[in-house]
Amino acid sequence: MEARIGVAREAARKLLRKYGIKTAPIPVLSIISGEGYRVEEVNLDDRVSGFCRAKDKCIYINSRHHDHRKRFTLGHELGHLALLHEKLKAMDFSDLEQRSSTSNEIDHEFVETAMKDMYEIEADEFAGELLVPRALLKNDWQELGSIDGVVKHYNVSPEVASIAYMRIMGAR
Ligand SMILES: [Zn+2]
Repeated sequence: MEARIGVAREAARKLLRKYGIKTAPIPVLSIISGEGYRVEEVNLDDRVSGFCRAKDKCIYINSRHHDHRKRFTLGHELGHLALLHEKLKAMDFSDLEQRSSTSNEIDHEFVETAMKDMYEIEADEFAGELLVPRALLKNDWQELGSIDGVVKHYNVSPEVASIAYMRIMGAR
């Protein structure tokens, strides 16, 4: 099965429309609370960006990460929720749950690891489109003029800004 790139991006645009968001930086925290979720910053291993527990209606993020990374993690976790990954993926977490059961940690429903399966790709695509919507960037690009301008205006990492820039160039 292939990652549903178009579906993931459209899900992000749908949420932006739902909240009438037309300007950057995208208020990702407001969207999350609008969706009935709260955000908690927790002390996590550096390799873990965050995870989501649907039953707590909470997204947990690594308190030690840079703000740009936190925003991407929030977008990514929101993507898992919007794309109903929890239901689709319920069977795939046995290895992660096994690992966490050896420590005293809570059960990880969406632990972020280096593992890149199709749900992770979809959640990343969702986050990229949510934080730097291509339609917005097409309008802003002339004015912003550089990747650094995109970084500041959208409050995202240079990596996320570059990917968004390459997308609008490719889409022309
Ligand atoms: Zn994920």
